[in-house]
Amino acid sequence: MNESRFRIFDGHNDSLLDFFPPFGDGQPEEFFVGNDRWQLDLPKARRGNFGGGYFAVYIPGEDFAEIAEAIKRGDSDALAAITVPVPYADAAYPALQLIAILFRLEEISEGQFKIVRTAAEMAQCFENNQLAALFHFEGCEAIDPDLNALEVFYQAGLRSVGIVHSRNNHFGYGVPMGFGESPDNGPGLTDAGLRLVKRCNELGIAIDVSHLNYKGFWDVANHTDHPLIATHSCAYQLCNSPRNLMDDQLDAVAQTGGIVGANFFIGFLNEEGSWEKPTPISRLVEHIDYMVERMGIDHVGFGSDYGVIPAPVDMPDISTYPLLMAALRERGYDDEALHKLAHGNWLRVLRATWGE
Ligand SMILES: [Zn+2]
Repeated sequence: MNESRFRIFDGHNDSLLDFFPPFGDGQPEEFFVGNDRWQLDLPKARRGNFGGGYFAVYIPGEDFAEIAEAIKRGDSDALAAITVPVPYADAAYPALQLIAILFRLEEISEGQFKIVRTAAEMAQCFENNQLAALFHFEGCEAIDPDLNALEVFYQAGLRSVGIVHSRNNHFGYGVPMGFGESPDNGPGLTDAGLRLVKRCNELGIAIDVSHLNYKGFWDVANHTDHPLIATHSCAYQLCNSPRNLMDDQLDAVAQTGGIVGANFFIGFLNEEGSWEKPTPISRLVEHIDYMVERMGIDHVGFGSDYGVIPAPVDMPDISTYPLLMAALRERGYDDEALHKLAHGNWLRVLRATWGE
C-alpha cells in the first residue's frame, strides 16, 4: 500500500551541517537539486512527503573536525568521548554562520522553503507544499547567560531551544551519546538555565529536553509552563543509551500534553547500542509502539535525526518515510493514528507552546 500521502513533520535534522566545513562542503543551491551524499534535500523531501521539521543549529567547537571524522568513521566510542564545552565567546560566530545558511536556503528557494514562526504558518506550509523549517538551537552556547542574544534570535525567528547538546554549557549539563550509562550523570540546570526556561516561556520559545541529563530534565519539568518536548529520543527501556528517556520521563511528557519525537539513529534503537548492526524498520516501530503504549497516541511523533546518522536498513534517507508509515499501518495503526504521528501531534504541541 502506498503510504506517501501522510505529510511528515519531524523534530530533528542536521541538514545545515551539510553546508558547513569540514563536515559538509555543499552550497545551499544544491539543497534544491539534491545529491547522493545527503540524507535530506528537497527532491528527497518531496519523495518522502516530508513537510518540514526542526532545522538544528548545532554549535561547532574546537573539536568539530574530530567529531566530523568520528561520525564519518561510525566510531561511537570516539564520538561519545567528545564532550568539550564551547564557551560563549567562541560560539557566536559559528552560530551566525549556520543561521545565515538557514536564511540563505529560504532566500533562494523561490517559495519552496519557509522559516515558520507560528503554528498557523506551519499549517499553511503543509497546505501550500512548502517545506516548513523551524529555527532551533541544539545547545544554547551562542546565548549569553544574561539572555540578550535570546531576545535578538527570537526576533530573527528562533522558536525552539535545546538547552544543551551532549556536553555542558553555562545553562546545564548534557548526557553522553554512549551506551549502558544512566542519564542521571550530574547536576541540574544552573541559575542561568532556570532563567532561560522562564524567559522562553514568556516569549513562546519551545524547550527541547533531548540531550539534557536527568536532573536537568526534571528542572525543566518543574519550571516550565509548556508541554514537555523531547525532539529526538527513544525509550531507555528498549535501548540503554543515556540519550533515551526513562519511563518516568515518558510519563511526565504525557502528563504535560507533550511529545517525544522518535529518533531513527540505530545506536539509540537496537538493544546493545551498536552503530553497525543492521537494524530493521521493525525495531524503530517497536520503540514507537512502546512509547505509544506508555504515553498514548497523542504524545509520540518522529524526530529522525537525518543528516548525520546510521539509519535503519531500507531507510537511508528522508525519502523513505512512506516505508515507515506502511510498517506502522501493518502494525495496526489506523488513519487517525498515522496522521497524529506524521504531524498532527507536533502541530498541536507547538500551537499550545507558541499560541497561534
Ligand atoms: Zn542531537
